[in-house]
Formats: sequence, C-alpha cells, structure tokens
Amino acid sequence: MQALTARRAPPALLMALALLGPCGSRAADTPAALPAPELTEDWTPVRVVTPGPTPGAAPSDAIVLFDGQDLSAWQSANGGPPLWKLDQGELLLVPKTGDLHSKAVFGDAQIHLEFRFPEVPAHITGQQRSNSGLFIQGLYELQILDSYGSSTYSNGQLGAVYKQHAPLVNPARPPLQWQSYDIVFTAPRFDAAGKLLAPARMTVLLNGVLVQNNVELKGPTVYRGQPVYAAHGPGPLVLQDHGNEGIRFRNIWIRPLSAR
Ligand code: MG
Repeated sequence: MQALTARRAPPALLMALALLGPCGSRAADTPAALPAPELTEDWTPVRVVTPGPTPGAAPSDAIVLFDGQDLSAWQSANGGPPLWKLDQGELLLVPKTGDLHSKAVFGDAQIHLEFRFPEVPAHITGQQRSNSGLFIQGLYELQILDSYGSSTYSNGQLGAVYKQHAPLVNPARPPLQWQSYDIVFTAPRFDAAGKLLAPARMTVLLNGVLVQNNVELKGPTVYRGQPVYAAHGPGPLVLQDHGNEGIRFRNIWIRPLSAR
C-alpha cells in the first residue's frame, strides 16, 4: 500500500483498495480457527410486502378496516349494524350510539389509524375535549383526546395508555388537522389455567413521534382502581364513544403479526 501510494497509484486503484478496507485484508489476518462467515448467514427467504404508496397507506398484506368506502368491517357493541356514519369518505363518530367494534378479532398486531378533532370552545377542557379511544383487543385503551395544549392528567392525554403510561412527549397537532397512530401491540400470554405468563406490551408513534416504547401493560384499562389481568383470547379493535361529537377517522388498517 505504501509503495503504491508513494508511486501515486491511479485514483481508481486507490479507491478500490480503500473500498476493500478491512474486508480485503481479512483473509490474510484471520486465524484459520475462526468459523467461516457463511455459517452465520440466514438465507431463509423473507416474505415480500409491498409498502403503501404514501406514508400511512396500507401495505399489501394489511387487513384494511376502513378506507373511506364503507363500514362493512365494523359493528355495534351488540353485534348490530354500525351506528357511526360514513361521511365524505371519513368515519364520523356519532355520540351516544355506543362504541364501534371491528367484526374481526386480533392478537399481536401492527395497527395504523388516523383521526381528526373538531374545533371546540376553549371552556371545554380536560377529558371532555374530543374524547375517544382505541381499545385494542377491546380491553387496552390507547387514548384519543384533543391534547394540543393539554389540560388533563398526563396519563390520560393523547398518546397515553390510559391511566397506565403517560406519553414520552406530546406531539399533538391542533384540531382540524389529521393525526396518526402507528402501534405495535403484543398480546398478553396466559397458560392453560389462565395464569398470566407475559403481560401485553405496546409501542406507539403519534404523528410519527415515539410516545410509548415497548411499555408493559398492567392489565385491561380501568377508570378507577388498579387493572387486573384475566385470561382472554383475541379481541376486536374498538373505537370509543365518549359522547363527544365531530371526531373523524380515516385510513384504519391492521397487520396481524406472527413469527417469520
Ligand atoms: Mg378515551
């Protein structure tokens, strides 16, 4: 190398030697006792998924629960037809009609949804400010609440696992702007006798910003007191009717997760 540079080797050759770097010299330096690098290469094919054409759009293997066309993936809490409205390609919460349940049930999953709050008068504060929520498996609430300039308890604002984990930061957007949740949910594990083996876990990005980092859930969401796990299987996604109007949703999809 020194001899070559002293003779001012052609730039292309210097570039090639630089690129070789440690790899290029490894063969000569590596003791024969070390295992071949190929022994740690995994060639099992990886399933191909086509990503959505724009950020937040459903990838090719997602189950699309709402794409602006219809509410066919949803039902009321009692199993009847959905009572929320399809309005201009958006899902409009209709207060006092009850929660909206996905017909399908899920375990571990990646979830995406977008929501928009109406403008409400300044005197409406705290938990009354466009309250909804996403109950994963119908049990674990990720809060949906207008928290731009939050006026409520931290573990009850947007981005909170309700009453369990306050968000790491508050990246809320103002009313009338679309916001997004991207969630990785790991369902709790129970043994055959119903004993908890592993609690549920959640990672959440709100508007692309990490707000929950693989947090451990203490149990199903409760308003009063401490949560307690009880064995359960897969459950629906449930959007909460907290009695507040003008909350809109769009672009809801889910990818059930399984081992590769
Ligand atoms: Mg709520």
